[in-house]
Amino acid sequence: MVRENEIRKAEIAIEPPAATDAGLVFIGRIRTPWTSRLTCPRQGRADGPICRIELFEPWVAALDGVEAFERLEVLYWLHLSRRDLVRQSSANDGRTHGTFSLRSPVRPNPIGTSIATFVRREGATLLLRGLDCLDDTPLLDLKPDRALFTPIAPPQPGDFETGDDQD
Ligand code: SAM
Repeated sequence: MVRENEIRKAEIAIEPPAATDAGLVFIGRIRTPWTSRLTCPRQGRADGPICRIELFEPWVAALDGVEAFERLEVLYWLHLSRRDLVRQSSANDGRTHGTFSLRSPVRPNPIGTSIATFVRREGATLLLRGLDCLDDTPLLDLKPDRALFTPIAPPQPGDFETGDDQD
């Protein structure tokens, strides 16, 4: 079930510590067909509707090269989420799960991520499929899908380190 901001049976809310300013900046906004959390997809789908990501200046130049990637990872700020639940009842059935074992939008830092399919770029705007956020959700970052990306910089020693059997 999808929540607005209600707290459900057996859920546990805490008093969150004061926020630390991580210095985040919203670099754009995401335009989608969804205006209600109750109808938004839970997870985007590769064949979902085309959504638009509008980059703000001065970040538009940072889009150069994205066309080379069939898929991009999109990070966004789920700005309407509550941030104080440590156990949540996703099905609203009295059973709860720890927040970090879920992909719920309700989390201490409500960052959403999706792997979106690149459709095309129109200047400062990207058209993509595969998003699951409300219209006007703030954009935090864009990166190539890690499965498609090979580092351009030369390797360094840590790249060759493997673990041992000790904890
Ligand atoms: N794909 C992302 C992830 O896994 O990190 C987000 C998944 S989250 C389950 C998607 C849900 O978040 C949507 O179905 C909607 O109910 C809610 N949501 C979408 N945009 C939101 C926003 N801007 N603020 C708060 N909740 C939002």
